[in-house]
Amino acid sequence: MRKYRTIKTLKRKNYKSNQDHKTFLEKSVIRCCTLITLGTVMITLSSCSENTPSEDSVKPTPTVTEIEATPTVTELEATTPISKTSFKLNTVVSITLYDSQDESIIDEAFQLCDYYENLLSRTKKESEIYKLNEEGHNSYTISDETKELLTAGFHYSQLSNGAFDLTLEPLTSLWNFGTKEARLPSQEEIEEALTHIGYQYLKIDGNTVTFDKEGMGVDLGAIAKGYIADKMKEFLISKGVNSAIINLGGNILCVGDKPDGSAFLVGIQKPFKDRNETIAVMEIRDLSVVSSGIYERFFTVDGKNYHHILNPATGYPYENDLTSVTIISKDSVDGDALSTTCFALGLEEGMKLINSLPDTYAVFITSDYELHYSDGFIENIKIVE
Ligand code: AMP
Ligand code: MG
Repeated sequence: MRKYRTIKTLKRKNYKSNQDHKTFLEKSVIRCCTLITLGTVMITLSSCSENTPSEDSVKPTPTVTEIEATPTVTELEATTPISKTSFKLNTVVSITLYDSQDESIIDEAFQLCDYYENLLSRTKKESEIYKLNEEGHNSYTISDETKELLTAGFHYSQLSNGAFDLTLEPLTSLWNFGTKEARLPSQEEIEEALTHIGYQYLKIDGNTVTFDKEGMGVDLGAIAKGYIADKMKEFLISKGVNSAIINLGGNILCVGDKPDGSAFLVGIQKPFKDRNETIAVMEIRDLSVVSSGIYERFFTVDGKNYHHILNPATGYPYENDLTSVTIISKDSVDGDALSTTCFALGLEEGMKLINSLPDTYAVFITSDYELHYSDGFIENIKIVE
């Protein structure tokens, strides 16, 4: 079995003792607060009450935090970044441009986001995915873009032997996390939904998709935000933007670095804590940072937490002692797919997978708040003190 780098390894490298680590965390929090007062975009946090699914659970809590949506005062004098925020993809979306003052570029990027949402949403009746889910048992022809994402989802389903499964829709529409209809389904309902799930029954032939089982459906919720972020980045670059942050509800994609050549700072949120409380702050240049966690979308019934990453074998949320997985990768579609996949696989198998992939790094957080770093993380991703 591979040895993982844990927070203890990091401590040896960067901190002398627990006390040092604590001081680092405290410093990070103070630093964050200072930066936030200078104008960092904030995203509302969700909180959930006991016994009934709380309405607040419709608001996702991002697990990675953009620490520096705007630079420090000194930098503000040199370049003035522009930022806009909007509610899209059932979450808070923001774009910050550091090397352009053209707000119309942000507006167009938002329109692109709407275009993809209208293509890929499983709930919007006009979307291609909605229509596929209605018609797939008779075969349905999809666009090249939907095919591109579906193929990626299929790849990660195969790679994880179905721990990640893009055909989870019958189950996700039952639990309905992230909506006001979120509820704990009955055992019978879950068992029935499970009979309609299985990526191996989904056939992609050219642009034609066929479901080989009745009642199947596709849910791209685990991968679509990453894909859309990549498309938005491509768009920004085509408009001459080379320094920006795209933040799709905590799914963060950095375009280049800051105009002065320094890195963007991205924080990993402390599980279940306020968004200002980061467990680690990283220097990120031109990379994607995506987390999956049990505290993003969840509700509590009779004191038990039900989160939104579901086990296609049981129909219930994964219970594997992980609280979050954060992936750092070049493309956000891979980071998004891998954060969910690694969460589903658990610490050991997920770590093996990440360590087998080039230029991809992960930090797994277990319920004891221990951080487990993948190979090469410490060497390649600078943790800021
Ligand atoms: P993420 O926040 O990227 O980890 O994605 C979570 C979302 O992916 C959920 O809200 C579901 O829509 C979907 N999902 C949940 N469990 C799985 C799974 N095992 N495989 C694929 N998609 C999933
Ligand atoms: Mg994901």
